[in-house]
Amino acid sequence: MLILGGTTEARRLAEALTAEHAAPGYRVTTSLAGRVASPVLPPGETRVGGFGGPAGLAAWITTHRVTHLVDATHPFAERMSFNAAGAAALSSVPLLALRRPGWIPGPGDDWHTAASLAEAAALLPGLGSRVFLTTGRMGLHSFAHLTEPWFLVRSVDAPEAPAPPRLEVLLARGPFTLDDERDLLARHRIDLLVTKDSGGSATAPKLTAAREAGIPVLIVRRPPVPEGHSRAASVAEALHWLGHDPPRSTERPLDRR
Ligand code: NAP
Repeated sequence: MLILGGTTEARRLAEALTAEHAAPGYRVTTSLAGRVASPVLPPGETRVGGFGGPAGLAAWITTHRVTHLVDATHPFAERMSFNAAGAAALSSVPLLALRRPGWIPGPGDDWHTAASLAEAAALLPGLGSRVFLTTGRMGLHSFAHLTEPWFLVRSVDAPEAPAPPRLEVLLARGPFTLDDERDLLARHRIDLLVTKDSGGSATAPKLTAAREAGIPVLIVRRPPVPEGHSRAASVAEALHWLGHDPPRSTERPLDRR
Protein backbone atom coordinates (compact mmCIF):
# COMPACT_ATOMS: atom_id res chain seq x y z
CA MET A 1 0.00 0.00 0.00
CA LEU A 2 1.23 3.48 -0.86
CA ILE A 3 0.06 6.37 1.31
CA LEU A 4 0.67 9.86 -0.08
CA GLY A 5 1.28 11.64 3.19
CA GLY A 6 2.22 14.90 4.87
CA THR A 7 -0.77 14.98 7.24
CA THR A 8 -1.72 13.71 10.69
CA GLU A 9 -4.29 11.41 9.06
CA ALA A 10 -1.63 9.81 6.84
CA ARG A 11 0.50 9.11 9.89
CA ARG A 12 -2.41 7.71 11.88
CA LEU A 13 -3.38 5.43 8.99
CA ALA A 14 0.19 4.08 8.74
CA GLU A 15 0.19 3.57 12.53
CA ALA A 16 -3.08 1.64 12.42
CA LEU A 17 -1.98 -0.54 9.50
CA THR A 18 1.36 -1.42 11.05
CA ALA A 19 0.07 -1.91 14.61
CA GLU A 20 0.59 -5.30 16.22
CA HIS A 21 -3.08 -6.27 16.04
CA ALA A 22 -3.49 -5.17 12.41
CA ALA A 23 -4.22 -7.90 9.89
CA PRO A 24 -0.95 -9.04 8.34
CA GLY A 25 -0.27 -8.88 4.64
CA TYR A 26 0.11 -5.18 3.94
CA ARG A 27 3.45 -3.62 3.29
CA VAL A 28 2.91 0.08 3.98
CA THR A 29 4.98 2.85 2.42
CA THR A 30 4.31 6.52 3.15
CA SER A 31 5.52 9.09 0.65
CA LEU A 32 6.45 12.61 1.73
CA ALA A 33 7.15 15.57 -0.52
CA GLY A 34 10.19 16.63 1.51
CA ARG A 35 9.02 20.16 2.30
CA VAL A 36 9.60 19.92 6.08
CA ALA A 37 13.21 19.67 7.27
CA SER A 38 12.50 17.26 10.17
CA PRO A 39 9.17 15.57 9.50
CA VAL A 40 7.51 13.32 12.07
CA LEU A 41 7.98 10.01 10.29
CA PRO A 42 5.22 7.39 10.35
CA PRO A 43 5.91 3.72 11.06
CA GLY A 44 6.38 1.42 8.09
CA GLU A 45 8.53 2.37 5.14
CA THR A 46 8.95 5.95 3.99
CA ARG A 47 10.19 7.58 0.82
CA VAL A 48 10.78 11.30 0.25
CA GLY A 49 10.53 13.51 -2.86
CA GLY A 50 8.39 13.91 -5.96
CA PHE A 51 7.72 11.07 -8.40
CA GLY A 52 7.82 13.18 -11.56
CA GLY A 53 4.12 13.73 -12.24
CA PRO A 54 1.32 11.17 -12.72
CA ALA A 55 3.41 9.02 -15.08
CA GLY A 56 6.27 8.85 -12.57
CA LEU A 57 3.89 7.91 -9.78
CA ALA A 58 2.24 5.26 -11.97
CA ALA A 59 5.68 3.81 -12.76
CA TRP A 60 6.52 3.67 -9.03
CA ILE A 61 3.20 1.93 -8.35
CA THR A 62 3.90 -0.69 -11.00
CA THR A 63 7.53 -1.24 -10.02
CA HIS A 64 6.67 -1.67 -6.33
CA ARG A 65 3.56 -3.76 -7.03
CA VAL A 66 1.28 -1.38 -5.14
CA THR A 67 -2.27 -2.75 -4.80
CA HIS A 68 -3.90 0.18 -2.96
CA LEU A 69 -3.20 3.90 -3.25
CA VAL A 70 -4.34 6.30 -0.52
CA ASP A 71 -4.15 10.03 -1.19
CA ALA A 72 -3.87 11.37 2.36
CA THR A 73 -2.19 14.63 1.34
CA HIS A 74 -3.28 17.98 2.74
CA PRO A 75 -6.55 19.42 1.33
CA PHE A 76 -4.47 22.22 -0.25
CA ALA A 77 -1.98 19.85 -1.93
CA GLU A 78 -4.00 20.22 -5.11
CA ARG A 79 -1.48 19.06 -7.66
CA MET A 80 -0.62 15.83 -5.85
CA SER A 81 -4.29 14.83 -5.60
CA PHE A 82 -4.69 15.20 -9.36
CA ASN A 83 -1.41 13.32 -9.88
CA ALA A 84 -2.78 10.50 -7.69
CA ALA A 85 -6.00 10.32 -9.72
CA GLY A 86 -4.02 10.27 -12.98
CA ALA A 87 -1.60 7.62 -11.73
CA ALA A 88 -4.43 5.43 -10.40
CA ALA A 89 -6.08 5.54 -13.83
CA LEU A 90 -2.79 4.78 -15.60
CA SER A 91 -1.94 1.83 -13.36
CA SER A 92 -5.50 0.55 -12.70
CA VAL A 93 -4.94 0.63 -8.93
CA PRO A 94 -7.87 1.58 -6.65
CA LEU A 95 -7.52 5.04 -5.13
CA LEU A 96 -8.95 6.32 -1.86
CA ALA A 97 -8.83 10.03 -1.05
CA LEU A 98 -8.62 10.48 2.72
CA ARG A 99 -9.54 14.09 3.32
CA ARG A 100 -10.64 15.59 6.61
CA PRO A 101 -13.83 17.72 6.44
CA GLY A 102 -13.50 21.48 6.26
CA TRP A 103 -14.33 23.78 9.16
CA ILE A 104 -17.85 25.18 9.53
CA PRO A 105 -18.54 28.57 11.15
CA GLY A 106 -20.64 28.61 14.32
CA PRO A 107 -22.62 31.29 16.14
CA GLY A 108 -20.43 34.29 16.95
CA ASP A 109 -17.90 33.60 14.21
CA ASP A 110 -17.03 36.53 11.91
CA TRP A 111 -15.68 34.68 8.88
CA HIS A 112 -14.75 36.17 5.52
CA THR A 113 -13.87 33.79 2.69
CA ALA A 114 -11.36 34.08 -0.14
CA ALA A 115 -10.98 31.76 -3.13
CA SER A 116 -7.17 31.90 -3.06
CA LEU A 117 -4.21 33.32 -1.16
CA ALA A 118 -4.09 36.16 -3.70
CA GLU A 119 -7.71 37.05 -3.00
CA ALA A 120 -7.06 36.83 0.75
CA ALA A 121 -4.19 39.31 0.32
CA ALA A 122 -6.51 41.67 -1.59
CA LEU A 123 -9.20 41.53 1.12
CA LEU A 124 -6.80 41.67 4.07
CA PRO A 125 -6.12 45.44 4.39
CA GLY A 126 -9.82 46.14 4.89
CA LEU A 127 -10.13 43.66 7.73
CA GLY A 128 -7.16 44.11 10.08
CA SER A 129 -3.73 45.58 10.74
CA ARG A 130 -2.16 43.11 13.22
CA VAL A 131 -2.49 39.81 11.44
CA PHE A 132 -1.94 36.24 12.63
CA LEU A 133 -1.06 34.50 9.34
CA THR A 134 -1.26 30.69 9.46
CA THR A 135 -1.46 29.83 5.76
CA GLY A 136 1.97 28.20 5.67
CA ARG A 137 5.39 29.45 4.64
CA MET A 138 5.06 28.34 1.00
CA GLY A 139 2.37 30.91 0.18
CA LEU A 140 3.88 33.83 2.06
CA HIS A 141 4.91 35.52 -1.20
CA SER A 142 1.21 36.23 -1.87
CA PHE A 143 1.28 38.74 1.02
CA ALA A 144 4.76 40.18 0.34
CA HIS A 145 3.45 43.39 -1.24
CA LEU A 146 1.46 44.33 1.88
CA THR A 147 3.74 46.88 3.56
CA GLU A 148 1.27 48.37 6.08
CA PRO A 149 -0.06 45.47 8.20
CA TRP A 150 2.08 43.76 10.83
CA PHE A 151 2.19 39.94 10.50
CA LEU A 152 2.77 37.17 12.99
CA VAL A 153 3.60 34.17 10.80
CA ARG A 154 3.51 30.70 12.33
CA SER A 155 5.16 27.86 10.42
CA VAL A 156 7.08 24.63 11.03
CA ASP A 157 10.19 25.77 9.14
CA ALA A 158 11.42 29.33 8.65
CA PRO A 159 9.82 31.13 5.69
CA GLU A 160 11.94 32.51 2.88
CA ALA A 161 11.69 35.75 0.90
CA PRO A 162 9.65 37.24 -0.61
CA ALA A 163 7.73 38.03 2.57
CA PRO A 164 5.92 41.10 3.93
CA PRO A 165 8.35 43.59 5.52
CA ARG A 166 6.63 43.96 8.92
CA LEU A 167 6.92 40.38 10.08
CA GLU A 168 7.57 38.27 13.16
CA VAL A 169 8.05 34.51 12.70
CA LEU A 170 6.96 31.93 15.23
CA LEU A 171 8.37 28.47 14.53
CA ALA A 172 5.96 25.88 15.89
CA ARG A 173 4.32 22.59 14.97
CA GLY A 174 0.73 21.79 16.00
CA PRO A 175 -1.37 20.65 17.73
CA PHE A 176 -2.04 23.90 19.59
CA THR A 177 -4.19 24.28 22.72
CA LEU A 178 -6.99 26.79 23.17
CA ASP A 179 -5.18 28.39 26.11
CA ASP A 180 -2.04 28.89 24.02
CA GLU A 181 -4.03 30.39 21.14
CA ARG A 182 -5.92 32.77 23.46
CA ASP A 183 -2.61 33.89 24.95
CA LEU A 184 -1.01 34.34 21.53
CA LEU A 185 -3.85 36.51 20.18
CA ALA A 186 -3.86 38.70 23.30
CA ARG A 187 -0.07 39.01 23.65
CA HIS A 188 0.39 40.15 20.05
CA ARG A 189 -2.81 42.28 19.98
CA ILE A 190 -3.98 40.37 16.90
CA ASP A 191 -7.02 41.86 15.14
CA LEU A 192 -7.27 39.42 12.18
CA LEU A 193 -6.65 35.70 11.75
CA VAL A 194 -5.86 34.43 8.24
CA THR A 195 -6.03 30.68 7.64
CA LYS A 196 -6.65 28.05 5.00
CA ASP A 197 -9.70 25.82 5.50
CA SER A 198 -7.44 22.94 6.49
CA GLY A 199 -10.00 21.30 8.79
CA GLY A 200 -9.12 18.90 11.62
CA SER A 201 -8.78 19.42 15.33
CA ALA A 202 -5.02 20.03 15.63
CA THR A 203 -5.20 23.66 14.53
CA ALA A 204 -8.90 24.42 15.18
CA PRO A 205 -8.43 26.09 18.62
CA LYS A 206 -7.24 29.30 16.90
CA LEU A 207 -10.75 29.64 15.42
CA THR A 208 -12.35 29.30 18.85
CA ALA A 209 -9.89 31.79 20.33
CA ALA A 210 -10.67 34.27 17.52
CA ARG A 211 -14.42 33.90 18.09
CA GLU A 212 -14.03 34.46 21.84
CA ALA A 213 -11.92 37.57 21.25
CA GLY A 214 -14.30 38.95 18.58
CA ILE A 215 -11.55 38.78 15.96
CA PRO A 216 -12.54 38.31 12.29
CA VAL A 217 -11.19 35.31 10.39
CA LEU A 218 -10.19 35.44 6.73
CA ILE A 219 -10.44 31.87 5.52
CA VAL A 220 -9.14 30.55 2.19
CA ARG A 221 -11.50 28.04 0.60
CA ARG A 222 -10.21 24.66 -0.55
CA PRO A 223 -9.05 24.14 -4.12
CA PRO A 224 -10.93 21.69 -6.35
CA VAL A 225 -10.09 17.99 -6.03
CA PRO A 226 -10.47 15.20 -8.57
CA GLU A 227 -13.77 13.33 -8.58
CA GLY A 228 -14.66 9.77 -9.50
CA HIS A 229 -12.92 7.65 -6.86
CA SER A 230 -13.54 6.50 -3.28
CA ARG A 231 -13.39 9.03 -0.48
CA ALA A 232 -13.01 8.81 3.29
CA ALA A 233 -13.38 11.59 5.84
CA SER A 234 -11.52 9.83 8.67
CA VAL A 235 -8.88 7.21 9.33
CA ALA A 236 -11.61 4.82 10.52
CA GLU A 237 -13.40 5.15 7.19
CA ALA A 238 -10.14 4.58 5.33
CA LEU A 239 -9.51 1.41 7.36
CA HIS A 240 -13.00 0.24 6.48
CA TRP A 241 -12.31 0.75 2.76
CA LEU A 242 -9.12 -1.26 3.16
CA GLY A 243 -11.04 -4.08 4.80
CA HIS A 244 -9.86 -3.37 8.33
CA ASP A 245 -11.77 -2.26 11.48
CA PRO A 246 -15.28 -1.18 10.45
CA PRO A 247 -16.13 2.42 11.38
CA ARG A 248 -18.06 2.93 14.62
CA SER A 249 -21.78 3.64 14.24
CA THR A 250 -21.26 7.30 15.20
CA GLU A 251 -19.14 7.93 12.13
CA ARG A 252 -20.49 8.84 8.71
CA PRO A 253 -20.59 5.96 6.22
CA LEU A 254 -18.03 5.86 3.48
CA ASP A 255 -18.86 7.71 0.31
CA ARG A 256 -17.90 5.06 -2.24
CA ARG A 257 -17.69 6.23 -5.83
P1 NAP B 1 1.32 19.99 -4.33
O1 NAP B 1 1.41 21.41 -4.79
O2 NAP B 1 0.04 19.30 -4.53
O3 NAP B 1 2.45 19.10 -5.00
C1 NAP B 1 3.55 19.63 -5.70
C2 NAP B 1 4.47 18.48 -6.06
O4 NAP B 1 5.12 17.98 -4.89
C3 NAP B 1 3.76 17.30 -6.66
O5 NAP B 1 3.54 17.47 -8.04
C4 NAP B 1 4.70 16.16 -6.32
O6 NAP B 1 5.81 16.16 -7.20
C5 NAP B 1 5.24 16.56 -4.96
N1 NAP B 1 4.50 15.97 -3.85
C6 NAP B 1 3.45 16.49 -3.17
N2 NAP B 1 3.05 15.66 -2.18
C7 NAP B 1 3.86 14.60 -2.25
C8 NAP B 1 3.97 13.40 -1.51
N3 NAP B 1 3.16 13.14 -0.46
N4 NAP B 1 4.93 12.50 -1.87
C9 NAP B 1 5.76 12.76 -2.90
N5 NAP B 1 5.71 13.88 -3.63
C10 NAP B 1 4.78 14.79 -3.31
O7 NAP B 1 1.71 19.87 -2.79
P2 NAP B 1 2.13 20.99 -1.71
O8 NAP B 1 0.93 21.86 -1.45
O9 NAP B 1 3.42 21.59 -2.12
O10 NAP B 1 2.33 20.07 -0.43
C11 NAP B 1 3.46 19.23 -0.33
C12 NAP B 1 3.25 18.24 0.81
O11 NAP B 1 3.05 18.96 2.01
C13 NAP B 1 2.08 17.32 0.61
O12 NAP B 1 2.51 15.99 0.84
C14 NAP B 1 1.05 17.76 1.62
O13 NAP B 1 0.34 16.68 2.17
C15 NAP B 1 1.89 18.48 2.67
N6 NAP B 1 1.21 19.64 3.26
C16 NAP B 1 0.75 20.63 2.43
C17 NAP B 1 0.09 21.71 3.00
C18 NAP B 1 -0.49 22.79 2.14
O14 NAP B 1 -1.09 23.73 2.71
N7 NAP B 1 -0.34 22.75 0.84
C19 NAP B 1 -0.08 21.78 4.40
C20 NAP B 1 0.42 20.75 5.20
C21 NAP B 1 1.07 19.67 4.62
P3 NAP B 1 5.87 15.16 -8.48
O15 NAP B 1 4.87 15.70 -9.45
O16 NAP B 1 7.29 15.26 -8.94
O17 NAP B 1 5.51 13.79 -8.00
